Amino acid sequence: MNIHEYQAKALLNEFGVPISKGVPVLKPEDAEAAAKQLPGPVWVVKSQIHAGGRGKGKFKEASAGDKGGVRIAKSTGEVAEFAKQMLGATLVTVQTGPHGKQVNRLYIEDGSDIDKEFYLSMLVNRETSEVSFVVSTEGGVNIEEVAHKTPEKIVTFSVDPATGIMAHHGRTVAKALNLSGDLAKQAEKLVNQLYAAFIAKDMAMLEVNPLVITKQGQLRVLDAKVSFDDNAMFRHPEVAALRDETEEDAKEIEASKYDLNYVTLDGTIGCMVNGAGLAMATMDIIKLYGMEPANFLDVGGGASKEKVAAAFKIITADPNVKGILVNIFGGIMKCDIIAEGVVAAVKEVGLKVPLVVRLEGTNVDAGKKIIRESGLNVLPADDLDDAAQKIVKAVNGG
Ligand code: GDP
Ligand code: MG
Repeated sequence: MNIHEYQAKALLNEFGVPISKGVPVLKPEDAEAAAKQLPGPVWVVKSQIHAGGRGKGKFKEASAGDKGGVRIAKSTGEVAEFAKQMLGATLVTVQTGPHGKQVNRLYIEDGSDIDKEFYLSMLVNRETSEVSFVVSTEGGVNIEEVAHKTPEKIVTFSVDPATGIMAHHGRTVAKALNLSGDLAKQAEKLVNQLYAAFIAKDMAMLEVNPLVITKQGQLRVLDAKVSFDDNAMFRHPEVAALRDETEEDAKEIEASKYDLNYVTLDGTIGCMVNGAGLAMATMDIIKLYGMEPANFLDVGGGASKEKVAAAFKIITADPNVKGILVNIFGGIMKCDIIAEGVVAAVKEVGLKVPLVVRLEGTNVDAGKKIIRESGLNVLPADDLDDAAQKIVKAVNGG
């Protein structure tokens, strides 16, 4: 799960992490009053979307101007003007894809006088089962480019969970950022605070880009991107409450309610499959026969009829879906349950596109019988290859 920058900053601040003062704003008419709560004389108006690259992003609407998704304002009047332009407009960045994301929230922040911009991130390193730090003096810019062109400017290390964060970790960060004296002390303290927040809140990733030194000699987190381990959300109702569903794919939200493993993709063949491996193989074979999957969907092992029906409805509700392929190898999952779920869903929402069903395994005969006797216009298939060819052919009008 992801949260907005302003939420991430508030959360980090609970652990003592230094941030600028700021006020989130939902309506343009609130922007000026929000700015007046801050000292000035410079304000930053920041688009709150679950994607990075906002500063260099471009709004689709000409009315939003060409100053990007993060803007420096010199007066509270200018803050109000930017807010009016940006709220409701669609921001396209390198991370949003070409469709962009509508900006529904802004964060008005007290402007910092920046001396230097650094990069710092933390993530769960699955290879070592440790939390890794990635630190670089080259902040503000695209870190992938730094990694590619000047890898020596990136310092990484992991923290042993048995010892937790130690003084030498902080010194490593200070050294990597060429800091000494008071600034080194600030860096060491910050590393402790970030690690404490990361562990306490079960984060999966925390990216601070940029981490800055202000002209006043203060180290400060100027941008923060945080994602959490979904499997730990049950421990953090206060974090779950920060979820902004408008930032997420509506189909994926619906799927998560039924505990389905579902990811929206760009193609036209809706897939309903059991098991992640078979789902991947099904997507591959659809591509082999010249079309693209509209989704990844693994209904899981012991899915109920209701869960299967919900999955089928999510697929049929997608206007990009021009054909559906149900590919089930019944092991723990029984073919008759799948058949009942599909039939129930079709009875409720109808079927406007071709449907190919391939069932194999436990209770396959019962499953086939349910489909046969349902009166649905289903194309049966014998194996994966046959199923993929049939759905591609049907969608192509033959
Ligand atoms: P991103 O583009 O989505 O990564 O958004 P950031 O929050 O990182 O902002 C983009 C850039 O705007 C930063 O790298 C800074 O250079 C600049 N910026 C953000 N806040 C301030 C500020 O308070 N003062 C100044 N001078 N620049 C800022
Ligand atoms: Mg940034």
